[in-house]
Amino acid sequence: MKHRVVVIGAGFAGLQTVLGLKGADCDITLIDQRNHHLFQPLLYQVATTLLATSDIAWPIRALLRDRRDVTTLLGTVEGVDRGAREVILRTGQRIAYDTLVVATGARHAYFGKDAWEADAPGLKTLEDATTIRRRMLLAFERAELTEDMAERQALLTFAVIGAGPTGVELVGIIAELAHRILPREFRRTDTRKARVLLIEAGPRILPAFSESLSQYAAGALTRRGVQVMTGHPVTECDSTGIVVDGALIPARTTIWAAGVQASRAKDWLGAEADRAGRVIVSDHLTLPDDPAIFVLGDTAHVMSGGKDVPGVAPAAKQQGNHAARTILSRLRGKPAPAPFRYRHMGNLATIGRNAAVIEYGRFRMRGWLAWWVWGIAHIYFLIGARSRLFVSLSWLWVFLSGQNSARLITQKETLKDEKQDK
Ligand SMILES: Cc1cc2nc3c(=O)[nH]c(=O)nc-3n(C[C@H](O)[C@H](O)[C@H](O)COP(=O)(O)OP(=O)(O)OC[C@H]3O[C@@H](n4cnc5c(N)ncnc54)[C@H](O)[C@@H]3O)c2cc1C
Repeated sequence: MKHRVVVIGAGFAGLQTVLGLKGADCDITLIDQRNHHLFQPLLYQVATTLLATSDIAWPIRALLRDRRDVTTLLGTVEGVDRGAREVILRTGQRIAYDTLVVATGARHAYFGKDAWEADAPGLKTLEDATTIRRRMLLAFERAELTEDMAERQALLTFAVIGAGPTGVELVGIIAELAHRILPREFRRTDTRKARVLLIEAGPRILPAFSESLSQYAAGALTRRGVQVMTGHPVTECDSTGIVVDGALIPARTTIWAAGVQASRAKDWLGAEADRAGRVIVSDHLTLPDDPAIFVLGDTAHVMSGGKDVPGVAPAAKQQGNHAARTILSRLRGKPAPAPFRYRHMGNLATIGRNAAVIEYGRFRMRGWLAWWVWGIAHIYFLIGARSRLFVSLSWLWVFLSGQNSARLITQKETLKDEKQDK
C-alpha cells in the first residue's frame, strides 16, 4: 500500500502542499468543508460589490482534476484520533493517514463577546461577504423607503470595527459607494450624508505599517469622507448600533474586522497552542512530539529568525511548500531540507480608488502608483487566465464607468430584527 497523506484544508497552505507533492509516490486525500479554494485577500471586494463570488473562488475538484493521485472530499473534520492515525469527519467517517497536514486556517475572534457576531459579522468566507453586501445594500434601500429621519441616518451609518488592512479596505470602498456612486441613483435619500466609521481601539490604523504610511492612510480616508476613530474601543454592539466612549452610535450595519482566532485544530490534536489558539510547531512545521503531523498557515504558531511569522497568504504558501519538500524527502529517503525560513513579501493595503500603501523593508510607496502595483500583484496571484481576465476587466470597467457591477440583492436576510422580510 502506498503512503497515505491526508491534508485538511484547501486554503493557501493545504493546496500548496498538495501542489508541491506532484510526482510523489503517495496517495493524497484533501478534505475541505467547502468545495472551493478562496482568495481571501479580495473578499472585501465581493462584500463591497466590486467583484462577483466566482471571480475569487475556484472549485477544488476542478483545480486538481489532472492529479490522479489526489482524492478530494467535501467534509467537515471534527477530530483526529492520533492513536489510530485517523481523521474523524462530522459524519463519523474515519480517514486513515500515515502523514497528516492540518491547514484549517483561522476564524473571527470576538474577544469573549461572541454574541456580537450576529450583528457585526466578520469577513472570512464567501457567505460572510455576501451577507455583508446584502446588509449594506438593504440599508441603502431601507433608507430610501423610511420617512423617519433618525432611522434613515442610522441606516446610512456604516461602522467597521478594526483598522487593519481589511477594515481600511472595506471603509475605502463603502465611502466611495455612498459618496460617489450611489447619489445619482437615489431620489429621496442623499447617500452623500452616509457616515462611514472606522473604529480602532489602538492608537493608529494599519499598525503593521510604518507610522508615516499609517498617517497617510488615515489622511486619505478622511479626505474620502471616512470618520477615522483611533483609541476608541467599542464596548457594546447590537442591532441598534455600537457604544463608543459610553455613547450609542446608531448604526444598522456593523462589520467586524478586529481579530482572528486559529481553527480548533489544537483541540483535535491535544497540542500546545499560543493565546490565539495557534498550534506551536517545530522548525519543520510538525508537532514537536509527532513528525508525522504538520500544522500550517493561520492554524500554526511559526517562528522564523526569532520572529513570529504573520498570518498572511505568502507565509501559508511557503509553509505548504516546505511541508511538501519535507514529505518528499522522507518518501525518497533523502535528508530533510533546512528548517523553515519565512521570506517576507511586504505589506500591501488599498485605501480606495487611486490610493494604496506598500512597504517592503525600508522601501515605502503610497498613492496612485502603489494602487496600480497592488492591483497588478493581486491579479498575478489569482488562479488561472479566466479569473485574471475577469477581475482585470471588472476593475477596468469600474475605473472607467464609476459603476460597481456586483450589486444584486439575491438572498433573504436572516437578521433577527428583519424577520418581516422573510
Ligand atoms: C478578509 C481577509 C483579507 C485578507 N487579506 C490578505 C492580504 O491582503 N494579504 C495576505 O497575504 N493575506 C491576507 N489575508 C490572510 C490570508 O488570507 C490568510 O493568512 C491565509 O488564507 C491563510 O491560509 P491557510 O491555508 O492557513 O488558511 P485558509 O486559506 O483560511 O484555508 C483554510 C481552509 O480550511 C478549511 N477548513 C477549516 N476548518 C475546516 C474543517 N473543520 N474541516 C474541513 N475543512 C476546514 C476552510 O474551508 C479553508 O478552505 C486575509 C484574510 C482575510 C480573512
